[in-house]
Amino acid sequence: MIKTKKNKFFISSIIALILIILGSSYFIFNDKPSSKSYNEFLKDIENNKILRVSLNKSSKLTILTKDGAEYLTDNPNNTTLKEDLLKNNIEVKESNTPPLKDIMLTLLIIGSLGTIVFLSLKKTSLGAKNMLSADSFEAHKDENFSFNFSSMAGNEEAKESVKDIIEFLKTPEKYAKYGARMPKGVILYGEPGTGKTLLAKAVAGEAGVPFYALSGSDFVQLYVGVGASRIRNLFKKAKKNGKAVIFIDEIDAIGKKRDNSKAGGSDERDQTLNALLTEMSGFNENEGIVVMAATNRLDMLDSALLRPGRFDRHIEVSLPDVSAREKIINLYLEGKPHKDLDIKDLAKKTSYFSGAKLENLINEAAIIACKESSDYIYDIHLDKAFSIVVAGYEKVNKEGIKEEDKNITAYHEAGHAILSKLVLPEDKLSKVTIIPTSKGAGGYTLTIPHDSSYQNLSYLHNRIKVLLGGRAAEEIIFGKNKITTGAYNDLKQATNIISSMITSYGMGESLGLLSLSELQNLGGINTSEVLDECKDTVYKLYEETKALLIENEDVLHSLAKSLLDKETLYEEDIYKLVS
Ligand code: ADP
Ligand code: ZN
Repeated sequence: MIKTKKNKFFISSIIALILIILGSSYFIFNDKPSSKSYNEFLKDIENNKILRVSLNKSSKLTILTKDGAEYLTDNPNNTTLKEDLLKNNIEVKESNTPPLKDIMLTLLIIGSLGTIVFLSLKKTSLGAKNMLSADSFEAHKDENFSFNFSSMAGNEEAKESVKDIIEFLKTPEKYAKYGARMPKGVILYGEPGTGKTLLAKAVAGEAGVPFYALSGSDFVQLYVGVGASRIRNLFKKAKKNGKAVIFIDEIDAIGKKRDNSKAGGSDERDQTLNALLTEMSGFNENEGIVVMAATNRLDMLDSALLRPGRFDRHIEVSLPDVSAREKIINLYLEGKPHKDLDIKDLAKKTSYFSGAKLENLINEAAIIACKESSDYIYDIHLDKAFSIVVAGYEKVNKEGIKEEDKNITAYHEAGHAILSKLVLPEDKLSKVTIIPTSKGAGGYTLTIPHDSSYQNLSYLHNRIKVLLGGRAAEEIIFGKNKITTGAYNDLKQATNIISSMITSYGMGESLGLLSLSELQNLGGINTSEVLDECKDTVYKLYEETKALLIENEDVLHSLAKSLLDKETLYEEDIYKLVS
């Protein structure tokens, strides 16, 4: 939209400029009678060759000779000229205005400049208008742009996490009765194209309330105060309606962590952010307004945004796994003619595709089938579309993740999962996946620790073993030379636990029951003994971890294979494989 507007403006300016140049050159060069010096003109008068002289205030006189020729000469601008001419029987045509061509030229230039100014004003006012009116999608039940959960395939966990918000939007009174506080703000985070906007629209659609949307990037480079007033307008509009979902895409554009080194760097952004926070604290929880915001990176956001009473619910909208991809593919094939498609195979091939890319893929396939006048979309069309879509994206993205890397991730996660089942059977192992997260992990294993107020020594040792399980599996299967950086976070956590055990919990030998932080107040403490003990402990635990995995290598293989196949395994799948 904005692009075409810019183009239009650009083209109009060019046209106006060309007009000026053409116009002036026409008047300046084309229609110019020849000119003669003033002396020649005087000679012509003497020789009685002149019929008429046009006198005006311009710098040139226009002379008409008796044989019909016209020429210009310098205007001496003296008061006696007219008298001299009349004495010589020469007609004098007098006008106080400059010649017509001069007027035309002036008008043309003024007109063209006016056009440019007008167009540029129009452009900015159009822009401003766009910015002031937040898009509002009124959710009428029978309108075909109303979205609901059926417009979104997969993402079951995210959908589950917003169900109570929908309930709340439908019947805020019910929640008010219990004194329950609903989140005012929800942050949806995850890779681009995973359906964050779609989910927010679906919440509005399911609850039957209007949907107002803005994008953080619209606020970049606005005049100070404009962003803040837009935020206030948006809330005013939404409140008038009673219930609403307010959606702010790309919230990081206004809510990025403040950079202390650049103090006072972006007044505008701060004002916009403050306006948003003020508006959010200005409405009552039970009014029926929910603000949903989307970002690709949760860790980039200013902590002021994430505080309780603001955006205090964070929902990950992740890349779809193989079964979710199958659902999305089916959703977009619905209503398109297709025959004998191997949808399962396509779902498998498209690991790391987002919902948006899958939608694009199906659309490309439909275009190809249509170009070929085929009655149906067949596998060959999907194949061609697949090449187009994959080749069309930059090389360094996730569809390009090598099979080898996927393989390593699968074994790494399988290692965690097996250790968890073996040494911490009481913790709930709810999910293992090799779908990367937006935080940069290649995959992850989600365990929910069992409830307990204290963690004893053997529990902590076992937690460390689970953390080391990933690296241990890599080493056992691929060899010591092939271990990867994938264990970065695991090792950080393990180090944290070990060092806390020895330096704070009184669970080690080197310090005994003393606390290192207190000792350091005394100054000059030698920590090399503590370091040695940490290293020894980790080494011992790592060896035990490897031994456990080697004992269960067949399970490791089957779990990894299953992960490569399904990408995400849930509690019951893992249970079947491990028991
Ligand atoms: P985001 O806001 O996360 O960048 P969008 O919600 O704008 O992504 O998704 C872009 C498009 O991708 C949607 O309009 C929809 O066509 C498609 N899409 C993404 N995820 C899904 C999904 N889970 N189910 C169906 N369509 C999806
Ligand atoms: Zn790991």
